[in-house]
Amino acid sequence: MVKTASKKTSANGANPKPRLGQNFLVDPSAARRIVEALGDISNRIVIEIGPGRGALTDLLIPQAKRVIGIELDRVLAAQLRMNYATKPNVEILESDFVTAQFPSMVGRRPGPLHDLRPTQPETVDVVGNLPYYITSDIVLRILELHRNIERAVIMVQREVADRISAQPGSRDYGLLSATVQLFARVEKLFTLPPGAFSPPPEVHSSVLRLTMAPRLEELQVEEVTFIAFLKLAFAQKRKTLVNNLRGQYDLAAIRTALKAAGLRPDVRAEAISLEKTAAVFRALQGA
Ligand code: SAM
Repeated sequence: MVKTASKKTSANGANPKPRLGQNFLVDPSAARRIVEALGDISNRIVIEIGPGRGALTDLLIPQAKRVIGIELDRVLAAQLRMNYATKPNVEILESDFVTAQFPSMVGRRPGPLHDLRPTQPETVDVVGNLPYYITSDIVLRILELHRNIERAVIMVQREVADRISAQPGSRDYGLLSATVQLFARVEKLFTLPPGAFSPPPEVHSSVLRLTMAPRLEELQVEEVTFIAFLKLAFAQKRKTLVNNLRGQYDLAAIRTALKAAGLRPDVRAEAISLEKTAAVFRALQGA
């Protein structure tokens, strides 16, 4: 997940930091399409991951009820705070999105006394042109927060977008696809060339919309144990499901579970729908 390119000084004097995935969006129509993909945000809190120089933030502020930018780079966070000092609906937190706690992201800022009364936790929308060095961690964190997030529009490396949106049986389907699709409906919206960014990355980028729709109840699976099961099922791509599972489950029980789900004994996890994977999981829990 590399999105690096030549070192280039910005108009505002700060050098982009490749180690922080700093490829800034410089295509205004792409920025507009990304924000539009969030839908009507006039009543929504929007968390932006890595606002950078504000290409998306500038468009979010006039449209959203509240914008919370989480920026890891100290210099950029300070610049953003300065730029938006007169805008009452934006806060910039200098923080790492992967480790920041949700309440500290959306928690009420110091203000009038009535603001301190406990409030119903609101759901938020998330948007971000992601730093590619840490895409998987950020996507997994978004999924962990599925109870708090309604929709996420994220730019990722094109190949990662293909994996996340892939269907079972296709070349790209794997653990990341299954895990994301367990929690969200995935739409691949559009793809941008390297020239849409400064400095240009070495890869194409695609925008995904994840609409949270957790399937845990429908599939009758418990979140933590089923995710651990998916990791095991997809542990080695070239191995059959039986061989990936047999370190942890009885061989006869695995074969019975596959048969009951109508699956061939030599099937691979990459070929099976989430419904069938969940059926095998449930059968093995009882075994
Ligand atoms: N949103 C801007 C744009 O579209 O031009 C910047 C996008 S740039 C690809 C990624 C941004 O994420 C950078 O500003 C970088 O400093 C920031 N970043 C990197 N790692 C981060 C993290 N763990 N948490 C929050 N922001 C991060």
